[in-house]
Order: sequence, then C-alpha cells, then structure tokens
Amino acid sequence: KPFSLEGKVALVTGASSGFGLHFAHVLAQAGAKVVLAARRTEKLLAACDDIITNGGQAHAVTMDVTDSGSIRAAFDEAEAYFGPINVVINNAGITIPKLLLDLSDDDWDNVIDTNLNGVAYVTREAGARMVKAGIQGSIVNISSITAERLQKCLTSYSAAKAAVVQFTKAAALEFARHNIRVNALCPGYFNTPLNSEWFKTEDGQALIKRVPTRRIGELHELNGPLLLLASDAGSLMTGSAVTVDGGHVLSEL
Ligand code: NDP
Repeated sequence: KPFSLEGKVALVTGASSGFGLHFAHVLAQAGAKVVLAARRTEKLLAACDDIITNGGQAHAVTMDVTDSGSIRAAFDEAEAYFGPINVVINNAGITIPKLLLDLSDDDWDNVIDTNLNGVAYVTREAGARMVKAGIQGSIVNISSITAERLQKCLTSYSAAKAAVVQFTKAAALEFARHNIRVNALCPGYFNTPLNSEWFKTEDGQALIKRVPTRRIGELHELNGPLLLLASDAGSLMTGSAVTVDGGHVLSEL
C-alpha cells in the first residue's frame, strides 16, 4: 500500500498540540506505532488514549528538545516500549513574535534552541540509533515558508527555519549512505495555538489576503505531503524541502 507505515515506529516531537498532535493521529492511521514526545506529558497521555481508542498504537514520552539528555532518555524509553524508531518528525517549535529591537537575549536563544538546536539534537540522536540498528530511516523536519517569505516580528524564527532547511540538506548528504532520508516540510499558514491569536490581528488578516488561495491551510492538507516524506512512497527523496502553502511563497510582498 503506498504511504503505508505498517510495521514502522514513528516519533513526533511537539505532539501535545497543533501540527504534532495531528501528525501523531495521521501516522497512527497509516499503521505506525507512534511515540508522542513533548514537555506536557498529561496532554500526550490524553492524545495516546484517543489514538488507542481509534484502534492505533501510541506511547507518550516526556522530552525537552533543547536538552540532549532528555532526548536520549526519551529515545531509550520509546525503544524499550516499541523497538527501534524508523521515522522521526521534528515538529516541536515556538515563536516569540517581537521586533528585533525588543528581543532579549533569552528570547533569541529560546527560539533558536527549540527550533534549530532541537532539530539538530533529535536528528543526531535518531541517526545514531538508526545507524547502530542498521535500519532504514526517514526524518522529516518541520520548517516553514518563513524560511523564504519574511514578515516582521519573526527575525529569530525565520533565521531558525531557514537554517533548518540547510541543516536538512547537510544531514541528508551525510546520512544517505546509511539509508536514512532527511527532508523538510515547509508549511504556509495554518490555524494552530502557535498563531491563532495573531490571525485575529490586523497584520494577520492582511497576510491571509496576500496568500494566492486567499485562505490559510487546513491541517488535513498536510497529510499527503507528510506521509510521502515519512513512508517508502518517497524512497528516493532526500534533502528536499517540500512547500505546502497555497502558493504563498509566490505572492507579492
Ligand atoms: P503549537 O504551539 O500548537 O505546538 C508546538 C509544540 O511544540 C507543542 O506540542 C509543544 O509542546 C512543543 N514544544 C515547544 N517547545 C518544546 C520543547 N522545548 N521540547 C519539546 N517540545 C516542545 O504550534 P504548531 O503546531 O503550530 O507548530 C508546530 C511546528 O510547525 C513548529 O515547528 C512551527 O514552527 C511549525 N509551523 C507552524 C505553522 C503554523 O501555521 N501553525 C506554519 C509553519 C510551520 P510542549 O509545550 O508540551 O512541550
């Protein structure tokens, strides 16, 4: 079956909310045993219950992606429960939307630590384990069209997301000989807790009007691209950055 993840174990970071929570359900429906990772364990446990009620297999692990010790412990626990991990979705991310002149050192560091360093640490941990186990792997890094398409108040976020695309290509180059694929998914704008307040502002409304499709995305519109990259359907795809944005990157500023 194309896009099937039957027999695979998939770990999703930032699975307590928004995209990550949605991705966990999608991967489980495609047949994967899903490991949900984030800091708010109680939310992960509730999500696991939902997935299991719907006939899927799921397990929660507490993970802070900015802390490599926490990542290692979470992978240990996940592997003890489901066995070696084949698919990793590096989805955890934050925004601190402020003008650069208002951004503190801590603000800057938090965004870079979560959105860039977190992706690198988790990719390194997953890659090491896949190589050791001698298994094929697929790593999908959630970047954003802000890697290319700029808006104010997102300097740190845009810098991190652009770096994630370049990191993805560099890691793909190193991992290809080990049969581990690394790709980036670059969504446009979707309504999740990350930005639901912002969409209500004048800037947010103005931005939606600039998207060629004149609407933001719906979560289900990420399902196909996610499964293409995660499953063997994309077996020759590595180092790609797949944009899912209703043509937003094409729009005029
Ligand atoms: P949400 O705010 O809904 O979810 C963010 C998730 O990241 C939460 O589950 C949170 O879990 C987790 N997270 C944050 N910090 C950490 C950390 N240090 N360690 C582990 N988990 C962490 O945002 P979205 O679902 O909208 O965003 C998900 C990803 O998609 C992000 O990378 C975002 O940049 C990207 N994206 C979003 C777009 C959108 O329109 N929504 C567009 C393009 C990209 P917890 O707090 O429990 O740890």
